[in-house]
Amino acid sequence: MDYFNFREGELYAEDLKVRDLAEKYGTPLYIYSQSTLERHLRAFERALAPHPHQVCYSVKSNSNLAVIALMAKLGVGFDVVSEGELRRVKAAGGDVRKAVFSGVGKTDEELRYALNEGILCLNVESAEELAAVSRTAASLGVKAPVALRVNPDVDARTLPAISTGLKNNKFGISIEEAFALYLKMAEDPHLKISGIDCHIGSQMTSTLPILETADILIKLYKRLKEHGISVDHIDLGGGLGVTYDAEMPPSPDDFFSGIIERFRGLDCKIFIEPGRAMVANAGILACKVIYKKHNGDKKFIVTDGGMNDLIRPALYNAHMTIVNAHERPESGAERCDIVGPVCESDDFLGRDRLLNAEDGDILAVRGAGAYGSSMSSCYNSRRLACEIMVSGASARVVRRRQSFEELWERESV
Ligand SMILES: *Cc1c(COP(=O)(O)O)cnc(C)c1O
Repeated sequence: MDYFNFREGELYAEDLKVRDLAEKYGTPLYIYSQSTLERHLRAFERALAPHPHQVCYSVKSNSNLAVIALMAKLGVGFDVVSEGELRRVKAAGGDVRKAVFSGVGKTDEELRYALNEGILCLNVESAEELAAVSRTAASLGVKAPVALRVNPDVDARTLPAISTGLKNNKFGISIEEAFALYLKMAEDPHLKISGIDCHIGSQMTSTLPILETADILIKLYKRLKEHGISVDHIDLGGGLGVTYDAEMPPSPDDFFSGIIERFRGLDCKIFIEPGRAMVANAGILACKVIYKKHNGDKKFIVTDGGMNDLIRPALYNAHMTIVNAHERPESGAERCDIVGPVCESDDFLGRDRLLNAEDGDILAVRGAGAYGSSMSSCYNSRRLACEIMVSGASARVVRRRQSFEELWERESV
């Protein structure tokens, strides 16, 4: 459910016409809906309400300060994967003591920064990293709060590129190795055992993989307890899917109801790290049609938004719904590829779509709130797009369009 709806043939972002916003702020333009973000967060909070929990918003899905600040205001914690993201949380007024830090390659500098700032938990991904954490904590004279990210070897049944819980990928530690490391950690004066962590993949549309994972983690939790080791939370990661096309992901209520049942009676909080499900459908990318062209029988709509603005189609061959913000008769629709201006054959937003559009029309790529702007680049010396936040009938710029000079301001001849 989102607040990008058609009224009498015109696409609205909450109470504002998308075409008016495109005119006023220029294109390509990321448009976010505050009410949608709030609604999604409420859905997660409601689903987890029966058990002590903390929602840690995954900052990498959309790291705009305004999104982080809104989450902070709503009382949410954060999941970060770099010092830069942690600094963003701080810059947006978020509480670092509610943040967990994930990622396979945290450097000593990053660990030092996180510990100095009072990070809630470091999600550690290897024995080597654990040694670095212990060393860093010792040098700072602190006790580092740690969870081990276990790799439960469960298939998230999603795209291979965003599947992270199988034993042949780089993420996490096997259950057996994790168990041995927890015993070692218990002896280390510089480490505080805080939790058990995992994240098995993204865009999950079934509840089975996460239930299977929860069972494995709870089993480890109980085994540790038998050895006198207790953790205060189990972190189930992110990964709940969204509807880009015809997918039917479960609601947060349905996704977590089995989890809540399994945690009943356990003296242990549930942490989750949602990204995509929180922000994807709270954003669209508005692009303007520059030209329509033909190569033989093949038809193209060339827009001013491309793979540098939104790379998911090119990178993952991901399907994203594209609509004309001003509905035109279906009878005039043509089968075409919607492509950007970047000099790469893979620069497309959608392939083989039925669309009726004219030069100057505004197209909206739906589901662009997650892994859109945060994955964008300046390739082809294209400026980072403008981002706006809409709330009801008001809009505000939350990132102004980059200037040309800013493209090279850190360079020298
Ligand atoms: C990317 C990521 C998430 C968020 O995943 P979504 O599929 O966007 O919910 C959560 N935790 C970790 C460790 C991640 O890397």
